[in-house]
Order: sequence, then structure tokens, then C-alpha cells
Amino acid sequence: MKIVLASNNKNKLREVREILEPKGFEVLSLSDCNINTDIEENGTTFEENATIKAKTIYNMTKLPCIADDSGLEVAYLHREPGVHSHRYAGDNANDHDRCNLILSKLENVPIELREAWFVCAICYINSDGEVKTVRGTCEGYIGFEERGSNGFGYDPIFMYGGKSFAELSPEEKNSISHRSNALKKLVEVL
Ligand code: IMP
Repeated sequence: MKIVLASNNKNKLREVREILEPKGFEVLSLSDCNINTDIEENGTTFEENATIKAKTIYNMTKLPCIADDSGLEVAYLHREPGVHSHRYAGDNANDHDRCNLILSKLENVPIELREAWFVCAICYINSDGEVKTVRGTCEGYIGFEERGSNGFGYDPIFMYGGKSFAELSPEEKNSISHRSNALKKLVEVL
């Protein structure tokens, strides 16, 4: 079955493909569909933003679509950066700037107060336009420095079982990540 991923994020596309393609899904990118658009994410929850993105692309393609809206929640920062994860350090910032901002906000905060979790909401719209939303999470804590060079986003500072997400192989990350937990739920409901 062909599914369009409503995202221009190459890292998300790679991870979604790694997880769904072995299960028999062919994941099309927006460029595979000749779509070049920036979708405004003005929802207040991950689910709302995922639904906005999936509906926009479904209306353009009428093909089954999925959209992922995801981010990091840090307990000590009252769940920031949350839905603002992508733009947390401003529009011109990069992943390294965003990781540094979190590390600086947690300077001198002890390990037991550094609890954090990734959230991934996936909205799926089938060819009849029916909408389903699922959520996956992964709990860990914020490390004290950036570690590793795999992955993307906040992976270098997100610690899970003694390693950062950026120190895990793609297979290891995909076996436990928020994204894979959401996609597993999605595959169950499909
Ligand atoms: P959005 O879902 O496109 O709004 O962006 C989510 C942002 O959250 C990304 O740009 C990353 O900064 C962060 N993020 C989402 N998933 C992950 C992940 O698996 N690892 C690290 N950072 C992530």
C-alpha cells in the first residue's frame, strides 16, 4: 500500500521508511508527489498539528496520507519545548543551537530532575478521507553534553539507558523511539 508522508523533513522520512517499508508500505515523499509546500503548524497540540498537515496533503493528493508531529518535553522546563521544538531557539537556529539552549537552561540541574520524553503524534487519513490519530512516547532524561553523531534534532542530548539517541544505531533507535511506538500503534489500527 502506498502512503504519502506529509513532511519535508528528510530524517523523519528516513525513519518512517525504515519502520513501515519492512511491513509492506511504500512511503512516498512530498517531492515524489511533486508537492512543494510549507504548511503552517498553528495547532496547540501534537495531534492538532499532525492533523493539519495530513489534511492539507490529503486534500491535494486524495491518497492515503500520514503526518508526524513530534517534539521533546522536558519536565524541569514545564514540558518545553513541546510543540515548539522545531523553532525553540529561533527561526535561524540549527539542531546544535537547540540542544545547547536546553543544556544551558538545565545547567547545574541534577540528574534526577532532568526527566524528559519525546512525543510523536501520527495522523493517518485513508483514501476515503477517514482520520485516525495515534501517539507514541519515549521516556529518558537530558544528558550533560551532546553525545553521538547519528539521528537528528535533540538526539545528542536525549539519554536512554546510558546512551544518547545519537549514539544508537538506526535499528536501535527505531526499536524504542516515540516515532516507532506511534507507528506500531498505527499499523495495529490499519
Ligand atoms: P515538527 O514535528 O516538524 O514540528 O518538528 C519536530 C522537531 O522536534 C524536530 O525538528 C526536532 O527538533 C524534534 N524531534 C522530533 N523527533 C525527533 C527525534 O526523533 N529526535 C530528535 N529530535 C526530534
